[in-house]
Amino acid sequence: MTTQPPFPSNPDVVIIGAGAAGLGAARRLMKGGHSVLIVEAANRVGGRAWTQSDSFGVPVDMGCSWISGSNKNKFTKIARNRGFSLVDHTEADTALFIEGRKATPAELYAYERAGEQVEKAMNKAGKKGHDVPGSTVLPKGLPFLGAAKAWMGPMDYGMDFEDISTLDDYLSANDQPSYIVAEGLGTVVATLAEGIPIALNSKVHRVDYSGSGVSVETSKGTIRARACLVTVSTGVLAAGGISFIPELPVEKQQAVHDLPMGLLVKVPLLFDGARLGLKENEWMSYDIPDTSPTRACFLISWPFGYDYVFGNIGGAFGWELSREGPDATVAFALEEMEKQLGSAVRKHFVKGLATDWATNPLTHGAYAAIRPGTHGVRKKLARPIAEKVFFAGEAMGGSRSALVDGALNSGRKAAKKMIKVLKV
Ligand SMILES: Cc1cc2nc3c(=O)[nH]c(=O)nc-3n(C[C@H](O)[C@H](O)[C@H](O)COP(=O)(O)OP(=O)(O)OC[C@H]3O[C@@H](n4cnc5c(N)ncnc54)[C@H](O)[C@@H]3O)c2cc1C
Repeated sequence: MTTQPPFPSNPDVVIIGAGAAGLGAARRLMKGGHSVLIVEAANRVGGRAWTQSDSFGVPVDMGCSWISGSNKNKFTKIARNRGFSLVDHTEADTALFIEGRKATPAELYAYERAGEQVEKAMNKAGKKGHDVPGSTVLPKGLPFLGAAKAWMGPMDYGMDFEDISTLDDYLSANDQPSYIVAEGLGTVVATLAEGIPIALNSKVHRVDYSGSGVSVETSKGTIRARACLVTVSTGVLAAGGISFIPELPVEKQQAVHDLPMGLLVKVPLLFDGARLGLKENEWMSYDIPDTSPTRACFLISWPFGYDYVFGNIGGAFGWELSREGPDATVAFALEEMEKQLGSAVRKHFVKGLATDWATNPLTHGAYAAIRPGTHGVRKKLARPIAEKVFFAGEAMGGSRSALVDGALNSGRKAAKKMIKVLKV
């Protein structure tokens, strides 16, 4: 339970969004002696960091779950200091299947090599400064190329290879080692809300920065402040979820356009306790044809010993399934499992969920990926307007972009800029 302090009537800063970026910025601003109010459209804090326990009776991370690059990730310390249980998931085993049978060690080796080859090809192009679609640099005819592409494209970036920038990939920080949290990473992020004034169920419609200060119009009334920080996703900005007076400068609109949202749909599937030959916290993947878009649902089995697996479906195929709805998504995930593991899957299946990040008007996708050929756009998006409308969020997380700690860092960085401006 978080304690809600009273809402300031005319705060120095209004922050739009109570995700990692908004919470990180608020804490930094309050530490600097400024009054803040976060306005959040949803009925909970955390945004795309969300652990829910209602459906299966145990924690399920519907958004972020890995503390990746955990040696340098701020959430490792935050989680440890607050007593959460971290499990090192860096060396997780992979159960690889080929047409319904377990792969041989030689096949597993070839599969792992395919992943390395794809990564190598991307790095080689990025290192030379080439900012081109990943699909143009990949080796051809490799065994397991379809699966290797699925991992790095739809599962990682939420994008198919045509839409991944080689340079942006090269500039992204290493994501190993990697920890997962038994209580849920969303629960860790939510603890950052402690002591921050947050107005939930308050959707921002308009930000007017034409006069002195800013005027933020919400579903619960208008708030005036000296400055505001916008932390909503580029998906929300692109869809016109918030209007600005005056309109956002063309450069800013272009930056939003050049950081479209990727999609990762999570598909948690509850079973009756049967383990189906899969181990705890293990990856299950399988050989797939090299098609575009990629059609795959790779999964983690029995995280922390809980009785569910969670499937991951990403990229263009994820958008397609999301339009069809959660039943179609769960059905696809089950079919894919059944093809590899047999009829025991249906026998022991209890119920399934599919996340709605694609159709949710507060996200419009999972996380942003840079359009190939637009290097530098993250900085353009983060540039403040008129020294009173600031921007932060995962899309502006530098080498940690798309990640939850990238969002936190970007919020803290924006707060620092604001503290300088507010001093004047
Ligand atoms: C399926 C999935 C898996 C992921 N896996 C990982 C992972 O394993 N590791 C990792 O590091 N990262 C992962 N991420 C990414 C990570 O969750 C995000 O990068 C991070 O949580 C984004 O934080 P943010 O503050 O930038 O945005 P958000 O969390 O989206 O915060 C913005 C807030 O603004 C609110 N909002 C939107 N519109 C309005 C409005 N008009 N008025 C008021 N409020 C509004 C939203 O409700 C939201 O709460 C994953 C994300 C998803 C979706």
